[in-house]
Amino acid sequence: MVEVGWRFLPGAGRFGYSNDSVTSVTPRHLSIVLPIHNEEENLRPLLAEIEEVLDASGHTYEVIAIDDGSSDGSRALLRQLVTEKPYLKSVFFRHNYGQAAAFDAGFRSAGGDIVITMDADLQNDPHDIPKMIALLDEGYDFVAGNRAVRNDDLFLRTLPSRIANFLIRRITHTKLRDLGCSLKVYRREISDELRLYGEMHRFISVLAEGVGARTAEVIVNHRRRRAGKSKYGLLRTFKVLLDLVTVWFMRGYQTKPIYVFGGIGSMLVLSSMVMIATVAYQKFVHGIYVHLQPLFIVGMLFAVLGVQFVGMGLIAELLIRVYFESHQRPSYHIAERLGFASTRGGGGRAIENLPERLSS
Ligand code: UDP
Ligand code: MG
Repeated sequence: MVEVGWRFLPGAGRFGYSNDSVTSVTPRHLSIVLPIHNEEENLRPLLAEIEEVLDASGHTYEVIAIDDGSSDGSRALLRQLVTEKPYLKSVFFRHNYGQAAAFDAGFRSAGGDIVITMDADLQNDPHDIPKMIALLDEGYDFVAGNRAVRNDDLFLRTLPSRIANFLIRRITHTKLRDLGCSLKVYRREISDELRLYGEMHRFISVLAEGVGARTAEVIVNHRRRRAGKSKYGLLRTFKVLLDLVTVWFMRGYQTKPIYVFGGIGSMLVLSSMVMIATVAYQKFVHGIYVHLQPLFIVGMLFAVLGVQFVGMGLIAELLIRVYFESHQRPSYHIAERLGFASTRGGGGRAIENLPERLSS
């Protein structure tokens, strides 16, 4: 292996190159994604710490700060910092859309071959990044941090999060244990395929497994928030539970909703047939009339519900087709393509030229 040192050199293009720090790591281009909502006091110290770690790491890097509708001085400070720091890029949201939206915007803007997400409040420690990248070299596609010792409020943050983690693990069968840690390292192909909505940043690990990423988890340092306030309270746990239902459904049945709805519908119709048969038997053999037989009403109710479920399944099938075709995304995830002009990029690129074909 050629042993060269890579690091960011101001003025040498987005990713600089230098021979002066010789290290044995495989040089990578990193994109650090920072979601920022009112983190004015944390920004400078955080960037300083990132510089300190990454300049010595042998990698080149860019930092993409996503300002998620801050109302303190974060916005003005970011404008200032972008002029000072050549590695820094910034995206400003018009409103506060949430951390998931910020990550998503970061994924769409990343130019490196490795994407790293972390909190901008100094709770995650940039010193953990190099060892996580080393795991990608071992063949993993996605490495999540695990905050073995959490420095957050026990009843408001840590306990609800433990319960949510437990439920999510049970329902989604994910192997990872700490789902809420923002410090995560992705191969670009993986982050390119993730689309985040609502509070879905909690489920990134599950979604990454869903697109077939080889995943690993490492213990990372977690520090107490020194400046600014936490943006989340107990309400989030309830949102997370609703998102959990979505993730379970999307992950398992996204491409075949009729299996879920049709399955439930068929069960309902079948049991209603058994009930109605029982009612008919009792009427003709024992002379019991339907107004004395509650099973009749239950049977009719199940029949109506069953038919509706099958109908919903068919509508969901239509929606799935509209979804995949309007986004021009296939319903499968390609790990690699060999022998084509460009081997990079599986996923949605296979039908890239569809609009031209349609419009010509
Ligand atoms: N954040 C954001 N948009 C929001 C809420 C939070 O971009 O609507 C950012 C916030 O600035 C921080 C990270 O997400 O960088 C984690 O937020 P916080 O520290 O409040 O969460 P906690 O650590 O309490 O779970
Ligand atoms: Mg925090």
